[in-house]
Order: sequence, then structure tokens, then C-alpha cells
Amino acid sequence: MDKDQIFYHLGEDEAFQDHPASPPIYQTSNFTFGSLEEMAKSLQSEDKIPFYTRGANPTTSILQQKLAALENTEEALVFGSGSAAITAAVVSQVKAGDHMVCVDNPYSWTKKLIDKILTRFNVACTYVDPSDSQAMIDACKDNTVLIYMESPNSWTYEMQDIQLIADFAKANSITTILDNSCASPLYQQPATYGVDIIVHSATKYLSGHSDMVAGALCTSKAIYQKIFQGEFMTFGGILSPFESWLMIRSLRTLEMRMECVTKNALEVADFLENHPKVERLFFTHSKSFAQGELRDRYLKAAGGLMTIDLKEKDFSTTENFCNTLERFKLGCSWGGYESLAFPAATTMSSLNYDKADTHVNRIRLYVGTESHEALIQDLTNALNSI
Ligand SMILES: *Cc1c(COP(=O)(O)O)cnc(C)c1O
Repeated sequence: MDKDQIFYHLGEDEAFQDHPASPPIYQTSNFTFGSLEEMAKSLQSEDKIPFYTRGANPTTSILQQKLAALENTEEALVFGSGSAAITAAVVSQVKAGDHMVCVDNPYSWTKKLIDKILTRFNVACTYVDPSDSQAMIDACKDNTVLIYMESPNSWTYEMQDIQLIADFAKANSITTILDNSCASPLYQQPATYGVDIIVHSATKYLSGHSDMVAGALCTSKAIYQKIFQGEFMTFGGILSPFESWLMIRSLRTLEMRMECVTKNALEVADFLENHPKVERLFFTHSKSFAQGELRDRYLKAAGGLMTIDLKEKDFSTTENFCNTLERFKLGCSWGGYESLAFPAATTMSSLNYDKADTHVNRIRLYVGTESHEALIQDLTNALNSI
């Protein structure tokens, strides 16, 4: 299906008699029925025929159809946050005594799910260098049931050889999950290579305006059924109908927003790559990116995320740089219109600032939709101040 069809029409045209250009928000918890038979029929397909909004809501159903089509999967479910989607996906695949393999620096709350929660239920994990796909395969044991990928990875954008890992997993009855937030479904479709469950922080590009928190999971009919009947309905971390509507609205501009941040990011990265005060640039589409071959194979374009290590490795230099920035706001998250800087030092105790193995000089940058000239001027000022 072509993208315009997904963004502008899928799930909408036949659903509403009056053909509204923007779909209605079904702001209701509950649906009522004219007969016992009708009510029973709805309850038996409560994921598709609206019965109660925790299960299905017509506004949310439009969004889920669009996300499934975008990721080229049979089904999708949306959640109140990316973390809720990740938790449902991971928990649905493991039981006590199982082992999983995960990239060694996943999104921080994904790591806490594995280290603090799954360990309580006797699920073990081996973390592996995210740029070493063969090592991820080699880390699998007889009781490995799940391989968790993030490609590109948080902060440093290592990529996995998705096809290689998915082929191995399929042959060994291991489920694969991939966090595709960084690439977006426009720039990478992991299901094409056989990944079983694709998860998103939809807070980022898919929503795109820094005004909501949401998550999504895209998968096959069989896995969807299992998750819907289990973690989805039980944990109940749903997205509200209003926020589903907001995301439908956001998807209409996903392609142009992604093109804009990608174009800006390429300009900003070009400026930073050989800057004398920058030790290292992490950016999938820079000349120095270590995994060019995987990038060319899997990633259609860059998006707006990059990370720098300043040459001067001390806290006060990082602080000066960050506090001089004006256009780039200091903040976490990314994927909206506004450019953001996230210094790694904020995640550390000050006791660690001087330790050799910490990244006190590391700053993640998200390049938004502002003009790249203004953003580069802002970075010039901040780099000149140190
Ligand atoms: C932000 C983020 C998450 C968590 O998503 P929330 O919507 O904040 O819960 C998960 N994975 C990645 C890669 C992220 O950047």
C-alpha cells in the first residue's frame, strides 16, 4: 500500500458514514448493545468490535491499522507509552527459567525491566555488544527464547545485522523483538527481514510534536492474539482515544517531518564532524560511522539523532557548552519539532565525573525542524564558549 493511502485514508474512508476529513474522537469508555446476541458477539471479538475502550475503540483502531501497514505487519497495538509497549512485548515471550539476549546498552527503562523486574521472575539475560551480531547469536543457549535488538541503538547508534539474527532466531524457535524508534517505520521495516515484534516509543517521531507520550507494537496475527488476550488487556496500559486521534493527525505529516529533520541533521553533522573541539561524532550517516555497510543495507535515511563527545573531558566544559546553547533546549526525549541537547552527565553521580570510563563529555543532540543555519550558529556559539 502506498504511503499516502496509509497516512490519509486507511481505516477511515469506510468507517464513518459522513466521510469526515478528520475522524471523530470516540471519547467513551463503554459501548452499549440492542440485544444479548449483539453484546455476546462483540465480547467474543473484543479487540475488533468495540465493547469496552480498554479492548477496542474506533478512533484507536484507525491508528492501529495505519501503524501495522507502516511496519508491514498484520497487526498493531498502541499503548500509553513506549515503555508499556516494550514491557508487554517482552513479558509476553518469557517465563521463569528462560534466558534472553539483549543489546548491552538498550534504552534505560528497557534495561531496568530486564535487570529489576524480570530477574524477580527468574528470567536471565546476557547483554552483548550491539555492533557484534554474531556474538548475539553465539550468546544464545538451549533455554534462550528471546533476542532483543535496538537498531540503531540508543545514544551511539550501533546497528545489528537484522537479517542474520532473524534467520538464526527463526531456525531455533527464538522470538525477536526490535526497538525501531530511532529509524521510524519510514526508514526501516524490520518485519521485512523476519523480526517478530517491532516496538516503538511513539512519543518520538510517530507523534512528533512533544505533546504526548505513547507506544506501539507491530506483529503477526498469532503473536498479537496472545499479547492482546494477555499483557495488553491485563496490564491495561492503553492509549486514550484523544491521543490516538492526535497521533493519526501526526502521521499525516510524518514523511515531511522526517525529511526535514534528516536534511537538517546532515547539515549539522557535517559541521560537527571535523570541528576541532569535537572528539567524536556518532551519527549513522557521517563519514566516520563504523557500520556503513549495515547502514546502507538497512537504513533508508538518517533522522535527527546524533551524539558528540567533546574533546575536553571535564564537567565544567560540558556545563559551559550546554548552558550557552539557546536554540537547542536542554531536555530528554526527541522526535518533536524542537532541537534538544541531553548531556550524559545528568545521568551520573558527580562522584563519577572524573572517572576514566564515564562519558562526562558526551552530549546527545536531537536536530528538530528549525532552520539548520540557526542551529549551526547556536552550536558555533556554544563551542566557541569552551
Ligand atoms: C524514549 C524511548 C523509549 C521509551 O518510550 P516512552 O514513550 O518514553 O515510554 C524506548 N526506546 C527508545 C529507543 C526511546 O528513545
